[in-house]
Parts: sequence; C-alpha cells; structure tokens
Amino acid sequence: MVFLIVSIFPKLFVIELLFFIMGKILGIIGGGQLGMMLTEAANNMPTEISNIIVLDPTKNCPASKVGAEQIVADFKNASAIKELADKCDIITYEIESGDSQVLKSLEQTCEINPSPETLEIIQDKLIQKKFLTKNDIPVAEFREITSKEELESKINEFGLPVLLKTRTGAYDGRGNFKISDLDQIPEALEVFEGQSLMIEKFVDFKMEVSVIASRSTSGEIKTYPLVENIHKDNILNMTIAPARVNKIISKNAEKIAHKTMEVLCGAGVFGIEMFVTNDSQVLINEIAPRVHNSGHHTLQSSETSQFEQHLRAILGLELGSTELIHNTIMYNILGPRDFTGLYKSPSIDLENTFLKMYGKLESKPQRKIGHINLVDKDDLGMDQLLERVNIVSNSIKIIPE
Ligand code: ATP
Ligand code: MG
Repeated sequence: MVFLIVSIFPKLFVIELLFFIMGKILGIIGGGQLGMMLTEAANNMPTEISNIIVLDPTKNCPASKVGAEQIVADFKNASAIKELADKCDIITYEIESGDSQVLKSLEQTCEINPSPETLEIIQDKLIQKKFLTKNDIPVAEFREITSKEELESKINEFGLPVLLKTRTGAYDGRGNFKISDLDQIPEALEVFEGQSLMIEKFVDFKMEVSVIASRSTSGEIKTYPLVENIHKDNILNMTIAPARVNKIISKNAEKIAHKTMEVLCGAGVFGIEMFVTNDSQVLINEIAPRVHNSGHHTLQSSETSQFEQHLRAILGLELGSTELIHNTIMYNILGPRDFTGLYKSPSIDLENTFLKMYGKLESKPQRKIGHINLVDKDDLGMDQLLERVNIVSNSIKIIPE
C-alpha cells in the first residue's frame, strides 16, 4: 500500500501523510513534573501524538513514570539532543536551559517549538528586557553591569534599593541580590563573581501576578485570565485564580501578555510573570518559554489545561478555551526542610480538592514534589477557599518512609 502511494505521490508528501495518519513523535527536553503533565496531556491525544520521548538526567524521571521513553543525559548534552531530534518529529521543552545553539543547528532536521531564536532571547534576562523595551512593553528600569564602577554609577542614578541579577541560569531567586546599602556592593559582586550581570530598580509591588499565554504555529493567540502568585522564600507557595485585582488591571495585564506573544513569535505556552505596582501599573518581570507552575490550576479550573494548550499550539491545532470555569487555588507541596530521602506519599479525600504528586522518589528540602488544586465549585468565595487551603495544607505531612 505504502509502495503504491509512494509511486504516485512525491516522497515528502507521503511522509507528511504518514505522520498525519500515525501521529507525531514528541520530544521534550526535561522530564520533571512539567514534562510529566505534558506527557499525560499527550497520552490523551493519541491521534496527534503516537509516542513521547524525554531527555532528562535523572533515571526514572516523573515523565517516564507516565509512559514517556527516556534518554538519560544532561539537558545540554549535544549528542543526546541530536539523538532526540533524530527520533522525534517535533521537539519542545519543559525547562529553558536547553542549549539554544545546538537546537538552532537541528532546526532543519526537526520542528522545534518554541523556536531556538525565541529561547535565546528569553535565556538572557538582559536581552529579554532589551527586547521587551524595544517593543514598548513595560518593565522595571534596568542596565547591564560590567564593573564595580558601573554598578556604583547606576545605583547613583536609580537610587537604593536595587536588585543585582545574573543574566542567565537563575531560578528560585538564586540569581538575585538585593542591595539596600552601598556597603553591600563588594559582597554582591563577590557572590556573582565571573557571571554576566545586570541591575534593576527595585519594584515596590503590591502583587505578583502572571498570565499563561499561548500562540499556535498558525499565529492564533489566547491568554488565560490573570492569576495572583504568593511566594515564600522565593518559591511559589500558591496561585490564586483569578487575581484579586480590579478589571482594569487584569485586562491591562492580559493585553500586555497578548502583545508580548505577538512580538515574540514563539509557538507554545509561555508563563509571563508580572508585578502590579502600588500605583496599579503592570510591569513584566520575566517570561518562561514553557508551561508554568502558576498555570497548574488550569488542570481543574478550565476546559483546556495549559499542558493540552501547549500541545495544541505546537501542533498547529486550534487553541482550546481559556475561560476560567471555577475559581481555584493551587498550593505547592514542597519537601520539608528537615530531611532528604524516601517519603510516604500523602493522600487527600476531600470534595473539590485535587492532589497531584509528581512521583519523585526522594524528598529534598524545598523541592516541589506535588500540588493541590482547591476548586470553588460551590461558590464559597475566595476568603473561604483560602481558609480551606490553610486547613488542607496543614494536614499534609511529608514524612520519611
Ligand atoms: P523564578 O523564581 O521564577 O525561578 P528567577 O530566579 O529567575 O525566577 P526572578 O523571577 O527574576 O528570579 O525573581 C525572583 C523574585 O524576586 C520575583 O518573584 C520577585 O519577588 C523578586 N523580584 C525580581 N525582580 C524584582 C524587582 N525588580 N523588584 C522587586 N522584586 C523583584
Ligand atoms: Mg521568576
């Protein structure tokens, strides 16, 4: 049969036709909890996706436990990324630290979304901020820093406090140093010795918020409603959907997110982190070129989860509805500070309360090992839902096995 078709139609057309009939093989750089939930969404799209392969350094990573094949290697390992490209029809990521130069060289072999060019802009916070400013998208004032003298002169210009930031590779606030006093300058520079740096004016924000935005390969753009993010020790503690701000602010934030997606031209879901300032301005803090922790509520609050939306976007399918059907609070479950090792997986049996554990073998201090979505199906209101979160989170104890 295939022989017959090949003899009638050009080879490329036949390959595309076979992909269409058999579904594509999806490659994901990173197989942690985000890769796991992408794999679960892909498992529900067997017509479009026939197989999932993840690249992750940890054997038996969360994605592999829900059916993904795994290449065990570092995210930046060039030959492992090439192997992934050889085996897959389309590559995406759940982390932003993949090697964008290697990915660029593979674009002829394999479809990659978001594109390595978009990834490159986002990977360097200075380039990202310059890109946003050039496109009239509001951010806190910033400057590149290449010497102590430059830092002193910019602090003079901006006033204290400022945030000294590493341009690349930061997570959980580890690349940030708040300078509130000139005496702290030597210490700040020592902490980040050898790294490329920038400074930002310190934003006196009243709330941290984010928009999960998506853009498909066909250019269609959709944003989920604005959500509110509460951090503890620089790690996301909970997300409140929708954010407790007035409509003018939420519409403005969603408009800014929409414009960002227009100028970025990337395909996929992006997490756009923002500040709402005390005078109600909205500024972008940073963009994640991937599904985002603050979008986990969509698993229960919305018709289309951010994970399905990401797959729809990179496959060029029509994007799903982003309407928030139920107000929801997402609470992150972190490993306790007092032990590292095997742990008893908790359970919850409560109405409208959805526990998702990530299947990580070991608990480590402050490691994200699961989350809970509390869904307000009975229209209790946000205050009551927050009370419930308090009760539920206190009842979850992660203890050694
Ligand atoms: P993540 O915490 O999302 O992994 P990260 O380590 O790259 O990211 P940022 O998001 O840039 O760091 O900053 C971490 C936190 O620091 C922010 O959530 C915010 O609370 C605070 N922060 C960052 N930039 C500023 C700023 N210019 N002014 C005030 N606070 C800031
Ligand atoms: Mg951040």
